[in-house]
Amino acid sequence: MNLLFAVVLGLHLVLKLWLSGRQVRYVALRAQSVPEQFAGTIGLDDHRRAARYTIAKQRFAMLEAIVGTLLFLALTWGGGLQWLYDVLGSLRADGLGFDLALVAAVLALLGLLDLPFAWWRQFRLEEHFGFNRMTQAMFFADALKSVLLGAALGLPLLAAVLQLMRAGGPAWWLAAWLLWSGFSLLLSIAYPWLIAPLFNRFTPLGDEALRQRIGHLLERTGFRSNGVYTMDGSRRSTHGNAYFTGLGAAKRIVFYDTLIERLHPDEIEAVLAHELGHFRLHHIAKGIVSSLAIALVWLALLGWLQTQPWFAASLGVATRADLPSNGLVLVLFGLVMPLFSFVFAPLRSAVSRRHEFEADAFAARHASAGSLVRALLKLYQENAATLTPDPVHSVFYDSHPPASARINRLLASASAAATP
Ligand SMILES: [Zn+2]
Repeated sequence: MNLLFAVVLGLHLVLKLWLSGRQVRYVALRAQSVPEQFAGTIGLDDHRRAARYTIAKQRFAMLEAIVGTLLFLALTWGGGLQWLYDVLGSLRADGLGFDLALVAAVLALLGLLDLPFAWWRQFRLEEHFGFNRMTQAMFFADALKSVLLGAALGLPLLAAVLQLMRAGGPAWWLAAWLLWSGFSLLLSIAYPWLIAPLFNRFTPLGDEALRQRIGHLLERTGFRSNGVYTMDGSRRSTHGNAYFTGLGAAKRIVFYDTLIERLHPDEIEAVLAHELGHFRLHHIAKGIVSSLAIALVWLALLGWLQTQPWFAASLGVATRADLPSNGLVLVLFGLVMPLFSFVFAPLRSAVSRRHEFEADAFAARHASAGSLVRALLKLYQENAATLTPDPVHSVFYDSHPPASARINRLLASASAAATP
């Protein structure tokens, strides 16, 4: 088993580096000329800038993948977790306290090590391409808020799960799954009005003409929501976006102010129609159901691994009979799981890309395909998103279809609608 984990760790790194390398080469080779389809709308300077941005992000992702692998090695066979386990053991903490302290210590360590990467991404990478609007103070205030929020919400949940693990029983993981399901549903309902406002200000959409236009669209599509809001995304970044949040009566539509500034009303309407499409076609509900189903499978697997003494041993940690090991199993599981689940990334991305096409078609039916094309072109340009992604990299990572594919379909539907 030792060997199995080592091989999977190696393959995971090689695959990630290979995919990033492909993307870098593919984009670099196509950086000097705008694809014919976009020749009239995207300038060469913007196209080159998008290529440089894409490549810079990939290089950074490669560095992160390497550091992540080294960290995995240091924690497991390098003895990091063993050391922590023994040190906490010598403090004579009791069962649940011991488990909780171990998991919290590892999470704190991982969070701390991620901080310089997040900083570099914001103040070097994003800054270099003119996207950053954050100050250093805002960055660290955000980090502190995230930690406090994570602790307030996560520690009680973690304690409850560890307690269920301790109590055992043949299907403790089923109880943990019910707990997790309830927690994540509550969180999605509470997110828009409890959590998001800690980081951003949300104001109801002000523009009266635009509000009416949106009101008509909501009526046409039979949609009731808790409102359409703008978010001060420009405080942190010039990237623009729109999203749909919340569940049931609490659901709302959020536009970044950066998006509202840049798009014409008909384009905003088309983007909103796309977001409504996700809701109307049950993409959001499907997403929730499938993520809960996946959580059930993972928890069942965790329930089995908890009873397998070889699991910790093969990852380089010798457990002791006088110390609890549930926290340790949970940490190791959290480290190992992403290595295996990366195999499913193409499936996840494929489902997401299909949903994007469906939402585009919905927008073409209920708003205007031409307006959505113009909005997409602006967004690609402003966000310096590449128009020429590597197809293999795309299979793994892209939640949205390549620009050319989306726009071709929209244009085809626009011309089909124009012919009687
Ligand atoms: Zn979408």
